[in-house]
Amino acid sequence: PSLEEMLRSSIRNIPDYPKPGVMFRDITTLLGNARAFRRAIDELVHPYAGSKIDKIAGIEARGFILGGAIAHQLSSGFVPIRKKGKLPHDTVRIAYSLEYGLDEMEMHKDAIEPGEKVILVDDLIATGGTAEAAAKLLRQMGADIVAACFVIDLPELGGRQKLEALGVPVRTLIEFE
Ligand code: 5GP
Repeated sequence: PSLEEMLRSSIRNIPDYPKPGVMFRDITTLLGNARAFRRAIDELVHPYAGSKIDKIAGIEARGFILGGAIAHQLSSGFVPIRKKGKLPHDTVRIAYSLEYGLDEMEMHKDAIEPGEKVILVDDLIATGGTAEAAAKLLRQMGADIVAACFVIDLPELGGRQKLEALGVPVRTLIEFE
């Protein structure tokens, strides 16, 4: 099978989670599959191999797992973008809208130096609201966002266009309806 098919079949589909009518794409089965995990990381990073990327910014929580592996592979630092109230030092914070209501995410205010090259990472992009807020926060810190990387894209929800409108190139490996 192709790489795309191998990765696709390593993802578990959970109907009606977290609520009726939603098909949740569970990547824990990809992470637990040694070959799929390695190939997914290699495939995400290969365009950036050899370029100097200062930091990988991972979105809580699955973006931490993928982002840590990517940071190691590219010899970059890692920066966590977390839900509010979890980081111990001074933070910068941004509000963003969820399906119901608002939430906030934050990062340490000394986590990125102006001009640093950063790759943003999460497991999946749907509407793009989460990644857009993270990209805005990184830009506020003066980051040069080289790309945003996701294993899964749900293209019908338009997240890619939202990031591209901000001038952030998007890299994804698998699409689901
Ligand atoms: P967005 O803000 O793009 O609408 O939603 C993306 C965020 O929700 C990401 O942080 C992603 O981890 C999470 N998410 C939404 N749906 C799914 C899903 O089906 N599977 C997984 N693994 N994450 C999801």
